[in-house]
Amino acid sequence: MTNEYLLQVYKNIKEKDKNEPEFLQAVYEVLNSIEPYVNEHPELEKNGIIERFVEPERIITFRVPWVDDSGKVQVNRGFRVQFNSAIGPYKGGIRLHPSVNVSIMKFLAFEQGLKNSLTGLPMGGGKGGSDFNPQGKSDLEVMRFCQSFMTELCKHIGADTDVPAGDIGTGKREIGFMFGQYKRIRNEFTGVLTGKGLSYGGSLGRTSATGHGLCYFANKMLDKMANTSFEGKKVIVSGAGNVGLYAVEKAMDLGATVVAVNDISGTVYNEKGINFDLLKEIKEEKRLFIKDYAALDKDAKFTENPKDLWKIKCDIALPCATQNEIDLEDAKALVANNVICVCEGANMPCTLEATDYFIENKIMFGPAKAANAGGVMVSGFEMSQNSMRYAWTFEEVEAKLKQQMENIFIEVYDCAKHYGNEYNTVLGANISGFKKVSEAMLAQGVC
Ligand code: NDP
Repeated sequence: MTNEYLLQVYKNIKEKDKNEPEFLQAVYEVLNSIEPYVNEHPELEKNGIIERFVEPERIITFRVPWVDDSGKVQVNRGFRVQFNSAIGPYKGGIRLHPSVNVSIMKFLAFEQGLKNSLTGLPMGGGKGGSDFNPQGKSDLEVMRFCQSFMTELCKHIGADTDVPAGDIGTGKREIGFMFGQYKRIRNEFTGVLTGKGLSYGGSLGRTSATGHGLCYFANKMLDKMANTSFEGKKVIVSGAGNVGLYAVEKAMDLGATVVAVNDISGTVYNEKGINFDLLKEIKEEKRLFIKDYAALDKDAKFTENPKDLWKIKCDIALPCATQNEIDLEDAKALVANNVICVCEGANMPCTLEATDYFIENKIMFGPAKAANAGGVMVSGFEMSQNSMRYAWTFEEVEAKLKQQMENIFIEVYDCAKHYGNEYNTVLGANISGFKKVSEAMLAQGVC
């Protein structure tokens, strides 16, 4: 990055937010890659667009007290970051995980704004969550937490203001408890949350949308850049949660063999292919671990280190667990094993160094904000269906998802090519997303 304006903005933010490494990492990646666009648009500096673009419109933090099954009061910290509403109401998931802090919330909300812009739907950027860990808690404990969390959050959200959704640790069960509490306090039945159950306004195809969308994006990339597809390829997938599971399903559906997956308990490898039905039963229905899957799959090999996944030979790698799960060493192992395509299902799963390494080595790379936009896209469809008081069929949703994910790939690819390197899809995604947001910000004056 050599543009003086961008360097100055980054320097300021680095001084102010020095204890926020994930946020700084995300900002650096974006500012660095939008540089050619900023060089062409001097009005951005005059109007202070970049300074405003990296500053959240609002951050809400709050106390979440709840009572555990032994009758003891527990306290967690709740967050909602309303980052940018230039192109629509804030939209982004709720993460429930012990690692949640303001840096992680800000990086996710910042990225979400660009991702939502790429979907072409009118949604701004937001994210929220808490350091509460649903793992090991009873259903009643999760309900008490969710009700307390929503008791405060409901003051700040609404169908036309801010529409949260699921993320790590927040699935159908948690969304159900939160929706119930919102409805009870506000006395309104609106599309204030997405990822809802089908019996009360959820959209068909939402659960599988991020994982399926990721594979539609990757398949289009393989087709356009290498005239190939998932057919006959060996795939590895990290994280056997909402995104990972349905990425496994769609990769198989498109003709690939998924040879390995992981979760926090370890890595499982089966050269003949992972058994999707068993994986789904263990992870989604029973909320158990990969090590429990391995015990039931007689051809599987299990190791306790989740990082072992990246040493397994594959054609396509789909990181779908969490931020910074692939570092430079992992990237080198993948490239040495002749990976041809890496597509990010999780948010920022590759470090800056790992991403650069993939691009330098001409690996087909799908950056998260483009490749995993399928989830928020179908959330956008859910909002439309709720407003219309109508429900589309699974086939309608899936067809729109596929088409839109392919469109996102083409937009990102064309943009990357326009700026000189078709493999730099990070630049393509960041400039495409930023262009729309900055145009809206310019049009709306200083706010
Ligand atoms: P889930 O909580 O459903 O799943 C996360 C999975 O990742 C779990 O299987 C978890 O293991 C595993 N995991 C967590 N940390 C590690 C680690 N260090 N190594 C290996 N595995 C790990 O979350 P989601 O699937 O919803 O989200 C995953 C990622 O995708 C996040 O980055 C999220 O922000 C992003 N995303 C999610 C979207 C959605 O629609 N849900 C949309 C767009 C992005 P275990 O089960 O053992 O805890």
